Amino acid sequence: MAGLLFGTGGIPHSARTASTIDGIERSVELGLGCMEIEFVQGVRMGEAGARLVAEAAVREGVKLSAHAPYFINFNAHEPEKIRASQDRLLQTARIGSICGAESIVFHPAFYLGDPPEQAYNTVKKYLKEATEQLKRENNRVWIRPEIMGRVSQFGTINEVLSLSTELEMVAPCMDFTHWHARTGIFNSYQEFTSILLQIKERLGRAALDNMHIHISGIAYNKKGEIKHLNLKESDFQYTELVKALKDYNVKGLVICESPNLEEDALLLQATYNTL
Ligand SMILES: [Zn+2]
Repeated sequence: MAGLLFGTGGIPHSARTASTIDGIERSVELGLGCMEIEFVQGVRMGEAGARLVAEAAVREGVKLSAHAPYFINFNAHEPEKIRASQDRLLQTARIGSICGAESIVFHPAFYLGDPPEQAYNTVKKYLKEATEQLKRENNRVWIRPEIMGRVSQFGTINEVLSLSTELEMVAPCMDFTHWHARTGIFNSYQEFTSILLQIKERLGRAALDNMHIHISGIAYNKKGEIKHLNLKESDFQYTELVKALKDYNVKGLVICESPNLEEDALLLQATYNTL
């Protein structure tokens, strides 16, 4: 991959309709390079539809990723909820890979009062079952647990990087905004580069050459994320982050999840290009 591509989490607001194909076409008109398909309320695309999406993405030259449904908890205490979580992730990976998505993002779990170490082992066990199933299906997408913004949510940098080192097919979805909201810090060039160095140390340079990143503005309190905001309405130092990504020659996809979607995606891209 040449460098960093910028795009929206979901279909740009200015797309002709809210269809994935119109989203791809609008992304190209805007000058964006990628888009994340949001299956967050459920995977409601069939195989035939996914094939048409793949054709459009190749024709237009847009890289795709897919976001799994929100209703996933690999640390659920009921076996049927674990199974449903695995099914939702698998279904996203199956349809996503037909679309041509190389990365599948998901929110791994809630602690539900469990000690983090115990939650980690549970998540790892059931996530491993899911990735092994994908391997059997010859599906080689990247499964990317996301860095989460609330302290009640499983998904610290350490947890996500540990899963990425211990499980095949697993790599991080680096949501720098969530990490800032969760910690109240990690909002400066030096802190951003310290994270990049940590990734390089634990996963190798190849991880920086194949990154999946989420950025938005954010409102937060002591418990972490409250809601996403547009970049200019929030305190998130996106210019410093983009500079860190450029200085470390990070490659991959940057997905903007601000409410204004394409406006901030274009702002991030323009910031990157003018550095
Ligand atoms: Zn997410």
